[in-house]
Amino acid sequence: MPSYKAPLHDMQFILFDVLKVQDAGNAVAAYAEMTPDVVTAILEEAGRFCENVLQPINRSGDEEGCVFESGSVRTPTGFKDAYAKFVEGGWPGIACDPEHGGQGVPNTVNFAFEEMICSANLSFGLFPGLTHGAYNALQAHGSDDLKRTYLPKMVGGSWSGTMCLTEPQCGTDLGLIRTRAEPSNDGSYRLYGTKIFISAGEHDLTENIVHLVLARLPDAPAGVRGISLFVCPKFLVQPDGNLGARNSLACGALEKKMGIKASPTCVMNFDGATAWLVGVPNKGLAAMFTMMNTARLMVGIQGLGVAEAAYQGALSYARNRLQMRAATGPKYPDQPADPIIVHPDIRRLLMRMKAMTEGCRALALWVGHELDISTGHPDAQRRQDADDLVALMTPIVKSMLTDHGFSAANDGVQVHGGHGYIREWGMEQLVRDARIAQIYEGTNGIQALDLVGRKLSMGTGRLARQFFHPVGAYLEQMANVPAMAEIVAPLAKAFGRLQQATLWLGKAGTANPDDGGAAATDYLRMFGLVAIGYMWCRMAETALAGSADNFRSAKLECARFYMAKIIPETGSLLVSITAGSKSVMALHEDAF
Ligand SMILES: Cc1cc2nc3c(=O)[nH]c(=O)nc-3n(C[C@H](O)[C@H](O)[C@H](O)COP(=O)(O)OP(=O)(O)OC[C@H]3O[C@@H](n4cnc5c(N)ncnc54)[C@H](O)[C@@H]3O)c2cc1C
Repeated sequence: MPSYKAPLHDMQFILFDVLKVQDAGNAVAAYAEMTPDVVTAILEEAGRFCENVLQPINRSGDEEGCVFESGSVRTPTGFKDAYAKFVEGGWPGIACDPEHGGQGVPNTVNFAFEEMICSANLSFGLFPGLTHGAYNALQAHGSDDLKRTYLPKMVGGSWSGTMCLTEPQCGTDLGLIRTRAEPSNDGSYRLYGTKIFISAGEHDLTENIVHLVLARLPDAPAGVRGISLFVCPKFLVQPDGNLGARNSLACGALEKKMGIKASPTCVMNFDGATAWLVGVPNKGLAAMFTMMNTARLMVGIQGLGVAEAAYQGALSYARNRLQMRAATGPKYPDQPADPIIVHPDIRRLLMRMKAMTEGCRALALWVGHELDISTGHPDAQRRQDADDLVALMTPIVKSMLTDHGFSAANDGVQVHGGHGYIREWGMEQLVRDARIAQIYEGTNGIQALDLVGRKLSMGTGRLARQFFHPVGAYLEQMANVPAMAEIVAPLAKAFGRLQQATLWLGKAGTANPDDGGAAATDYLRMFGLVAIGYMWCRMAETALAGSADNFRSAKLECARFYMAKIIPETGSLLVSITAGSKSVMALHEDAF
């Protein structure tokens, strides 16, 4: 079984040396007390919790899974205890507003914590993850009364949250939702319908479960313009805040699935359940998107967490597994064979895992920092610019990090050979667990369409300019730094390809929507590779500026690897993008 050590050094390097988040303290309230010492103390404590409490029940949780018994769900052994410790430590409210009992730490710190949780135990991470999403939606759109009733308990962790969108006939296309909401005389509503695939829909970790449900009011317009958002608790809440009668909703079944087996994926039946409207009638989808945007970034972090766990497992195995001799002659002549880390093909896998994981971490924390600025900066223009960048980068973070999570887990299996395929070393669980993150919160294909079809053209390219302008200016500035030449030149080339692809999409994608659709996934990957390359350039620049040590020279080697071996992929992506949709769409459906 792999052990896990929180990558604190790398997180500190990115936060304090590259992004210099501590400098935001003067402007953004969330950072006011977040000195490097305070953040380090929080992350160290969080790391200990993940290493010592969550990681030890990761494999047992996978093997035992959740049990469904007469309408109730039992989580695997140890989960209740771990959740109690999570609550005791004050972790559920770490990123929540102090007004509701939270600690209001910046998103950057929360992202780092989420990564650790997901490395240690992805299934566990879904419980607080969903609660935080539900908290965000209620905080942004709920009435004062709803906020008073629900938020403090969710922030404290005694109640959890869910997000009930999916139905048997609708996943991506939420316009097909059938769950209906009938108004009652007392201002509440009764919900009727079935939701499927609801994470943490029923479980034994909290006293109450607060469901956020999308449903249709009578006479609502068809499609996405007729969807409203409701809050619907498992137990009704009395005026004094105590729990009352059981609401008319129940878990009908648990899905049997490929991974995240300790996270209950529930069929939820609403049979006249009492609910309250959140926000404006028929504007539920927009309200839900408040929560989904942050949730998408969080799902990206899930991929990153799995990638880090896979890398740590693979590295430790590669150092210890003795097979064959190095091609250039024995490296450890006193041993019967060399450890496999000497072989270039194993190095290729490990370097790819390391360079992508650290690059993805830097990208996520950069976007997290901009998210903090978008809500907390005193200058309205700076807030708007940051908001635009976050909106542009959200589908990229979600897809790139989750694709990398799966790919790194897969590479982790490869490093272990046959031992990766069997259970003992934990790699096959990581592959199974990582896979879902590419699907939920909008599949990665849909993220690519969001980027190409919406984000690029929004505000006549205003969002895109928030990336292209500063990165272009940075590259120009770096072009005059000889020590950076080997890192800057390949990035500048890839950046040029991204500009070319963007122009091509602007023309061809508008003329023929299928061209945009066929190019979307390739384009998102190209954009992601350039964005991660930009982060590697900044990390290399920072590493060069500091006094040399092992950590900083490893950063430089990784940046060189990224530019030599990973970013050139943008060349083939450009060819594929500009080949258009003809070859994709030509085959007649009957000929498949
Ligand atoms: C373990 C698990 C947990 C989940 N948790 C939750 C939860 O808590 N709450 C919740 O509401 N839902 C949840 N889901 C549901 C999840 O969000 C959906 O499965 C996902 O959004 C995709 O919907 P779908 O499965 O119906 O696929 P479909 O929408 O049927 O899509 C099938 C395929 O078609 C593609 N596709 C669809 N439309 C287009 C298009 N216009 N252009 C190109 N490609 C297209 C998709 O990308 C996908 O590859 C969960 C699912 C699982 C498996």
